Amino acid sequence: MPQDSTYIFIGANGDTFYLPLEGPGQGITVSPFKTVRAPMGEQKQVADWMGNWLFAIFMSVLLIRLFFPHIFRRLRLFFYSHKAKAVFDDRQPDYHAILLQYMPYYRSLPPGQQERFVRRTVVFMTTKQFEYVEIEPEERMPLLISATAVQLTFGLEHYLMDHFEKIYVMHHDYHFGFNSVPFQGHVTSEGIYLSWANFLKGYDNYMDGDNVGLHEMAHALAYVNFNVDDGRDDGFHNRFIRFSETGRVVFENMQSDVSGGFLGRYAASRYEEFWAVCVENFFERPTSFKIQLPELYAAMCLVLNQDTLTRNILLSPVENV
Ligand SMILES: [Zn+2]
Repeated sequence: MPQDSTYIFIGANGDTFYLPLEGPGQGITVSPFKTVRAPMGEQKQVADWMGNWLFAIFMSVLLIRLFFPHIFRRLRLFFYSHKAKAVFDDRQPDYHAILLQYMPYYRSLPPGQQERFVRRTVVFMTTKQFEYVEIEPEERMPLLISATAVQLTFGLEHYLMDHFEKIYVMHHDYHFGFNSVPFQGHVTSEGIYLSWANFLKGYDNYMDGDNVGLHEMAHALAYVNFNVDDGRDDGFHNRFIRFSETGRVVFENMQSDVSGGFLGRYAASRYEEFWAVCVENFFERPTSFKIQLPELYAAMCLVLNQDTLTRNILLSPVENV
């Protein structure tokens, strides 16, 4: 797995505003509190009343957005649920065909589970904002990226990773921050970033334990469960503690293994990477994983509530669609 980065980066100039001290705008003075004398009358009173209400609504939305982002996202999800249903009703056959073509996981699902998978994928897709950076958007892009998130969380009740509103899609490897090694994808508090060429490669070869889509979604899932309180799945959160009782032991043992063993050296670099690489191998090489690291494989099944080596995949039913 090439280098990526997880979690918080504050760019040197990413969100800085400044006013030029010299240049064309020099010397211009703007008064923010300019007063305008308006004619009196009933028409003006109505206009003032409407203006006050609009201002109050605008400020309320702004304050909720700023100080209670999780409430804002819940409201947003409520409004988007109708759109998701309409999209599902209209596009299900086409989405089914695309998922069959690209996703081995989807092909392995029983028919009833396939419909549930598409429903979840459509809801995930309609609640996210996809930003395309130097690449032409295609319909399959948001669908397949959303499907990757749904694959990882298919055994969980809460699968929307609410904190992340934006998913950025780049064309190829890209440079980020001061890192000299190009990235295939990364996750920050601002969003999930994926390079499309590498995303597709992950599914072209679904047997090598290298899948940048699953890797970054694993980081994103950990982020919403342990770094922010916005999108947590309580079952996953609690079971992850039990997963780590096994995972930490394997991770510590890897520190003295030059080869890195079955999971490789990148998994030994940080526990966050260990988790993400476990996810990649859990889905792409389950049989080898189970033979090489049986206790860790069992812990993965429990924490994700699924096992792709079983017929029904889910270990216990999930009530939420
Ligand atoms: Zn990573």
